Amino acid sequence: MPIITQRRFNQLLKIPRPKPLNVCRCETCGKILWSSHRHDWVACECEQESGTEIFLDGGDDYCRWGYGKDARISWWDSVNQKWKPQEFCSSAKA
Ligand SMILES: [Zn+2]
Repeated sequence: MPIITQRRFNQLLKIPRPKPLNVCRCETCGKILWSSHRHDWVACECEQESGTEIFLDGGDDYCRWGYGKDARISWWDSVNQKWKPQEFCSSAKA
């Protein structure tokens, strides 16, 4: 569910977590998506017809995502504490 603000995201980063944050950002609409638990499916605010929409799922357990053909995505890399481009998935598959 959650689309989170930059402020909320900054707060999240301060909370120690056993697993990496499952977070990505849509570079088209600028929304930060956080899948907070296994069944937490979250989509950005792009129109589906635009081809830029993205979704994220799986929480701490796994990273599942999908996106339109024109989507531009950054993933949060919890290890290096920075945004990474499209292909990179921040969530450990362990
Ligand atoms: Zn979007």
